[in-house]
Amino acid sequence: IPVTKKDEKGRNIQVVVRCRPFNAVERKSNSHGVVECDSNRKEVTVRTGSVTDKTSRKMYTFDMVFGPSAKQIDVYRSVVCPILDEVIMGYNCTIFAYGQTGTGKTFTMEGERSPNEEFTWEEDPLAGIIPRTLHQIFEKLTSNGTEFSVKVSLLEIYNEELFDLLSPSPDVTERLQLFDDPRNKRAVIVKGLEEITVHNKNEVYQILERGAAKRKTASTLMNAYSSRSHSVFSVTIHMKEITLEGEELVKIGKLNLVDLAGSENIGRSGAVDKRAREAGNINQSLLTLGRVITALVERGPHVPYRESKLTRILQDSLGGRTKTSIIATVSPASINLEETLSTLDYANRAK
Ligand code: ADP
Ligand code: MG
Repeated sequence: IPVTKKDEKGRNIQVVVRCRPFNAVERKSNSHGVVECDSNRKEVTVRTGSVTDKTSRKMYTFDMVFGPSAKQIDVYRSVVCPILDEVIMGYNCTIFAYGQTGTGKTFTMEGERSPNEEFTWEEDPLAGIIPRTLHQIFEKLTSNGTEFSVKVSLLEIYNEELFDLLSPSPDVTERLQLFDDPRNKRAVIVKGLEEITVHNKNEVYQILERGAAKRKTASTLMNAYSSRSHSVFSVTIHMKEITLEGEELVKIGKLNLVDLAGSENIGRSGAVDKRAREAGNINQSLLTLGRVITALVERGPHVPYRESKLTRILQDSLGGRTKTSIIATVSPASINLEETLSTLDYANRAK
C-alpha cells in the first residue's frame, strides 16, 4: 500500500508549541497577552494588532499545543513517552527545543530544581525532559527484564566549534574534531567525545551537574554563550533480549535532546535577520537545521546535512526511519510579538 505524503509526514516529524506564563518583566512593562492556546483544538491564535484591535489575528494549528498552565509532566507524557518507546525498539530519535531566548527551552529540556531541596531530582515537578527520560529508561528496562546499558554524552556547538561538557579535562575551551565514519555513510565520529556509562539512575544527577558546571565556565569565556550555543544531550541504549525461540536479539536506540540556540537571529522568512548579519551573528547550525527540516518535509532531492556541525552530528537521527519532535517555545506577551510570530512561522514550516 503506498503511503501518502501526508501520512508519512505526520509520522516522522511532529511539531508542538509551548507558551510559558507571563514573567515579571512582561508584567511590569504593561505588556498585554497576545497568545491564546487551545490545547483541545491544537490551535495557537496570536493577536497581531494593537491592544484595541480585536480583529487582526493569525491562527496556527500544530500537533500539540501547551498553554502557560501546562506542567513538565504533561509535556513529558504527551511528547516524550511515545518517542522513548521508539528508542527502546531500537530507533534513533531527536527532540528539539526551538525559540527565542527566555521562552523556556532550557526549562523544557532540563527543567529546574524546586527551592529548599523539597524534592529529590527524580520527583521534582520542575524536572524537565532530560532527567525524566533517564529516570524512565531505568524504570522501564529494569522492570521488563531486558539486559541493557546506557551511555550519555553532552556536546555543545558554539560558533560552529564543538565542546565536550562531560570531558574530564578541566579546559572547557578544548575543541573536538568531527570526521565522517568510514563504516557508516550516515554517521560521523566526534573524536574524543566522552561517553559516560550510567550504571543506575542514582548516577544520573551527578553527571548532569557536571555538565552544568562546565557550561557555567564556558559562559564566562564565550560571549553570549547560553543564547548562541546548541546543546546536544545524547542517550544511547544497548539492549539484549532473548526471543521465545531462544535467540539473542540486540537493539541499539539513541535519543538526542537538543536545546537550540536562541532563534532571535533568524528572521520571519527563515533567512538571517539583517541586524544579526550586521552583528556577525549568523548561526550556521540553526539556519541549516531549518533547511534540512524543510527538505525532509518536502521530500526534496537534496538534504543539506553537511552544511553545519549540528546537522552533521544529527544526520543519523534525522530523516529516514527516525522520529523528530520540535517543541517551539514562545512568550505570551505583546513585547515579544515579532519573535513569537517568527518562531511560529518557522515551526509551521516544519509540519
Ligand atoms: P531559554 O532557555 O529559552 O532561554 P529558559 O528556559 O531559561 O529560557 O526560561 C526563562 C525563564 O522562564 C526561566 O526563569 C524559567 O524558569 C521561566 N520559564 C520558562 N518556561 C516556563 C514555564 N513553562 N513555566 C514556568 N516558568 C517558565
Ligand atoms: Mg536556555
